Amino acid sequence: MKQTTLFVLVALACIVRVHAQQPAPARNLVIFLMDGYRWEELYRGADSTILFNKHYNRIDSAWTVTKYWAGDVQARRQKLMPFVWETIAAKGQLYGNRDAGSLVNVKNKYQFSYPGRSEAFTGYYDSAINSNDYPDNPNTNVLEFIDKQPDFHGKVAIFSSWDADARIFNRHRNGMLVNIYGEDVGGPLTPLQREANTWQHLLPDIFGSGERLDAATYAMGKAYLLAQHPRVLYIDLGDPDDFAHAGDYGDYLDAAHYADAMFKDIWTTLQQDPFYKDKTALLVFPDHGRGVGPQWTDHGQGAPPSGQTYFLALGAGVATKGEVKGGEQIYQQQYAQTIASLLGLKFTAEHPVAEGVVLAH
Ligand SMILES: [Zn+2]
Repeated sequence: MKQTTLFVLVALACIVRVHAQQPAPARNLVIFLMDGYRWEELYRGADSTILFNKHYNRIDSAWTVTKYWAGDVQARRQKLMPFVWETIAAKGQLYGNRDAGSLVNVKNKYQFSYPGRSEAFTGYYDSAINSNDYPDNPNTNVLEFIDKQPDFHGKVAIFSSWDADARIFNRHRNGMLVNIYGEDVGGPLTPLQREANTWQHLLPDIFGSGERLDAATYAMGKAYLLAQHPRVLYIDLGDPDDFAHAGDYGDYLDAAHYADAMFKDIWTTLQQDPFYKDKTALLVFPDHGRGVGPQWTDHGQGAPPSGQTYFLALGAGVATKGEVKGGEQIYQQQYAQTIASLLGLKFTAEHPVAEGVVLAH
């Protein structure tokens, strides 16, 4: 009898201990995608071979150097993305620093934008999706799967700088809010939402048709978050890729620096709101990497190593691990199930779904 009691107590203690180490699933989730932002800048800071080349600086490069250069790699990357290094590194998880042996890659061979987003959000590499002009995505994505769950219906929203997201997330099929370049948010609006609708039309179309500057996308997404309290908000940022294709390194670095400021701003907002505070996770990842040296402006099979990326997580359901060294290879197709399991769901679809990344311990 005594032995049985002891066994029960030890077993209970173990269960309590395991539970204490494993955070509860998140109730809500905010996801940022940084189109074509390289792991090289995330983990090493500004790249001297590009930064000090006048050819790649539209404006006075001395100013860019003042903002983002430091001899020490830790100081340099922190200058570029202070929130990532002060908060995500302290409380969350960072994968993909190849200098520390942490490997994150895309599974698709194309290494550009539509196939990248499709892989990440469907949890599946469909080799037929081989163009940014590909029509409506035939594969179910995890965001529409979540939106179909009773507790989440109508509480999942997408704000994107790029109009292709309407097809990638197939809003014709699922009727979700996928707000893209040039579109106003409809319905009853708060004053802030009305202003955000207006301001997006006051910015230059510097990337041509179909591409909205990220500041406008963010303003609209944040205004929506404050007004509607979605349980899942996805903000898709395009500036890093667009400025890189344009060959403007200073603008590319600014895009990353301001994206980091958006992470901080949204995180601060979430942690001040009882609806979100300590119940919300934040994820950050790109859709592909880019080339190196003179090929930094480009990506795809002809610009290696564009398949190399990274994955960042913070908040509810995410144990503190900091910058991960070594460990298992991660692929982009694992993000969809990771997103579902953060919210306590299991993503199933008509196609195979890759296993998630375990963030809880
Ligand atoms: Zn892209």
